[in-house]
Amino acid sequence: MRELKTFFVRTYGCQMNELDSEIMVGLLQKRGLERIQDENEADLLLFNTCSIRDLAERKVMGKIGKLGTKKKRAVIGVTGCMAMAKKETLFRKLPHIDFVIGTNNISDLNDVLDEVLLSGRQMIRTDDQFEENLDYLAAKRDDPVKAFVSIIRGCDKFCTYCVVPYTRGQEVSRSPESIEEECRKLVDSGYKEITLLGQNVNSYGKDKPEWRCLFHDLLYRLDKIPGLERVRFMTSHPVDITVNLMEAIRDLPSVCEFVHFPLQAGSNRILKKMHRLYTVEQYLEKVSLIRSIVPDVTLGTDIIVGFSTETEEDFQETYRLFKEIRYSVAFIFAYSARKGTPAFRWKDDVPEEVKNDRLQRLLTLHNDICQEDRQNMIGQEVEVLIEKSSREESFLKGRTRCWKNVILKGPDSLMGTIQKAKVHGYNHQTLLTELQPTKTLAII
Ligand code: SF4
Repeated sequence: MRELKTFFVRTYGCQMNELDSEIMVGLLQKRGLERIQDENEADLLLFNTCSIRDLAERKVMGKIGKLGTKKKRAVIGVTGCMAMAKKETLFRKLPHIDFVIGTNNISDLNDVLDEVLLSGRQMIRTDDQFEENLDYLAAKRDDPVKAFVSIIRGCDKFCTYCVVPYTRGQEVSRSPESIEEECRKLVDSGYKEITLLGQNVNSYGKDKPEWRCLFHDLLYRLDKIPGLERVRFMTSHPVDITVNLMEAIRDLPSVCEFVHFPLQAGSNRILKKMHRLYTVEQYLEKVSLIRSIVPDVTLGTDIIVGFSTETEEDFQETYRLFKEIRYSVAFIFAYSARKGTPAFRWKDDVPEEVKNDRLQRLLTLHNDICQEDRQNMIGQEVEVLIEKSSREESFLKGRTRCWKNVILKGPDSLMGTIQKAKVHGYNHQTLLTELQPTKTLAII
């Protein structure tokens, strides 16, 4: 059997993929392989792929395609959402790859590798449903301060433009005991901030009513872990943002006052076509409710412009709503049809130049809102978790509880601590702050 000593991993796409890669790195290291950063020297190349946008797919196909011409013959594996979406067809398009593992089969990585090495044949595992058998504790994280923790996989919402329900399957919640155990271990080894991850975190526990633990119950449970300073979560679906969750954000000291609240579109006709399950009126009602329950909350969103049949009037409604709500974080995309989704069958009838024009108008609006917000923050004191040093000497980078980037002057010894800082200016997206001479609240 061929011997593998080193491996190289490249991750594309979202935080869920980052976390899956961290788990795969841990599994390969347990097997005795060493991770290296030079893909030309590695015995095993792993590409954890994304399928959410056409461009992401084309990039990774081009990248792996080029490897077929290399002299050194590494074992090549493709994992992630593209593996799930394309399955066996990947072997036709990329005949030099050795294995394909879908999002629900990460735990099979070492078995598949053994089979490939023993038989010399191509292998594929792409189960449609996830079984909760992952070794989460194996994950090898690069960041020493913040960690992602998976709490639910898959999605049952079936938005018409989205491949996730097909690439990641139905919702499967992870047991609260297992989540708590991982969080406690992370805090014991120095982590200060945990982001709970899932395609739709706030539907956590609905698939397991016998646990009697919904998302807000889980937050109450995790808030009791001594030393866990900050809990974040992403992504949410507006219909599952409940009053109980809003009250948990208000009442639990560890839960940050930032909620990703993806609107996607501001026209009821488009929302219906997207199968988003709420109207603009219902969405606005929740926004005003959360702002009354958690007055200092900041909101983030995802917006798609140029969805099939979107008119200028539809877009104007999105624009008006965006201006009214004033999101502090926004991921804005021009629509691109994804194969395998219901919307793929519809005409992608908004011309590219119109999509780009709408995208630019919304980005400009967002930029103006953020600039006004940053200006208004001058003179305010903020709580900062120091995450890393900046490229400039003796400058540190961190984030506020509301996910704003911060830079401040201070020694590296402050890394992993929570500090008070006063905002004195801003530079693009970043608040410029000055450390306040208060006591250190937490030290690694
Ligand atoms: S809720 Fe999110 S992950 Fe689920 S189908 Fe809709 S966009 Fe995709």
